[in-house]
Amino acid sequence: MSTTTPATLSLDGLFAREFEELAVPWQAEEAPAPELLVLNEALARELGLDPASLQTTEGTLMLIGNRIPEGATPVAQAYAGHQFGGYSPLLGDGRALLLGEVTDVHGRLRDVHLKGSGRTPFARAGDGLAVVGPMLREYIVSEAMHAMGIPTTRSLGVVATGRPVRRDTMLPGAVLTRVASSHLRVGSFQFARVNGDTDLLRRLADHAISRHHPDAGKADQPYIALLEAVVAAQASLVAQWMLVGFVHGVMNTDNMTISGETIDYGPCAFMDAFNPGAVYSSIDAGGRYAYANQPLIAEWNLTRLAEALLPLFHEDQEQAVALAVESLGAFRKLYSEAWSAGMKSKLGLGADAKDDAVAPLVNDVLALLEEGKVDYTSFFRSLGSAARGTPETARSMFADPGVFDAWAEKWLALAPDADMMDRVNPVYIPRNHLVEEALGAATAGDLDPFRRLVDVLAHPYTEHPGLERYADPAPVDFGSYRTFCGT
Ligand code: AMP
Ligand code: MG
Repeated sequence: MSTTTPATLSLDGLFAREFEELAVPWQAEEAPAPELLVLNEALARELGLDPASLQTTEGTLMLIGNRIPEGATPVAQAYAGHQFGGYSPLLGDGRALLLGEVTDVHGRLRDVHLKGSGRTPFARAGDGLAVVGPMLREYIVSEAMHAMGIPTTRSLGVVATGRPVRRDTMLPGAVLTRVASSHLRVGSFQFARVNGDTDLLRRLADHAISRHHPDAGKADQPYIALLEAVVAAQASLVAQWMLVGFVHGVMNTDNMTISGETIDYGPCAFMDAFNPGAVYSSIDAGGRYAYANQPLIAEWNLTRLAEALLPLFHEDQEQAVALAVESLGAFRKLYSEAWSAGMKSKLGLGADAKDDAVAPLVNDVLALLEEGKVDYTSFFRSLGSAARGTPETARSMFADPGVFDAWAEKWLALAPDADMMDRVNPVYIPRNHLVEEALGAATAGDLDPFRRLVDVLAHPYTEHPGLERYADPAPVDFGSYRTFCGT
């Protein structure tokens, strides 16, 4: 184990130094009575930090930016972005700060970032604060995504500040310490473009290449290759979301990373019953960010990235556009290949299974799930048992089990591999009712349900006797679920 203590935590200020135009030096607000609610010890060790030191008073203050290690320059980052399709030329971290970068034990550069650390010059009408429930929610969901093998920002810890925060009622304030491979977003490039700063745009692109997509740097046209690398990373990411039934909820261009990590867990949710139109966010009345729209929205956002990058592609605008269009064209193919390959695995079918045979099986089963409002996660997990000769659980999910039997006969003829299925169909996901239960208890001061849920979600693919309630669908009286942004 590393012996690095927080007192010697060395935070670089790479972004702050290299991108002054995008970085406003700023301090976190003082927390009146900080209390560490949760520390991700494994992640701390991965960052080369000693968990025991982070649990001390000094360490906790360091986690929320109330003690700044020597050499660090916390900054609020500026960016632009399309929110629900409408363009804002200036957004930026309204309640967040980049503390700096850490080199982890694998030699990778990671951002250490705060959410809920007080108003910044980008706060507009917001109070700059965050509350315990939503910060623990980001902790639960981001760590569950990581455990499922889906690229994501991570959660290092949540500290209650001791400051009450006004929402609908007064709620306990908190700061989340988040770790990301970077916070470069589509909106960062939009900001450089809207300000007509081609030099900044080029430096940002070079930074993104060296940090996230180094192969692009070796290409004949590195900036086109950068766009193509982001297109590929996002096609793969969104396919993975779709395969586990994840609805991000607020896919604005400022919430889409260049690295290909999932970011900004606000109004997100996992689907219970399979429903292509699933929307949970209270502000997404038009269903722009509905489950089935996510690939299209990702492509739309990538088009905004391409527009921002145009001046780097070619000095002749028409030729630049032609290059961008060609690169964007790859998204649909990459997405559909990733999704189809994932669906094949979910059904236990190897790469050698013929697409002509698999595609109708996939279409048919999704239609059955939609029609029967069948729980997406439970169904796919139960198919593993069906492949082993015990179809009862899967059958019982349909009002007319005969429709399942007819489908299963065709599927079983392809000899599915149950072990392959168990490796990709999670037993445990952050089910909405369990998350709400854990957050409700935590807000009232009892962290035990939160801790138990986090522990269960750390091993999503291995079924454990006694943990049935964590695998069960929501009780019928849970009702329709609503999630909220910026809380
Ligand atoms: P989000 O949808 O969470 O990514 O937030 C969108 C924008 O609103 C970002 O620029 C945030 O920094 C800002 N924001 C959200 N909540 C607050 C708040 N309570 N105070 C200040 N800014 C906020
Ligand atoms: Mg955001």
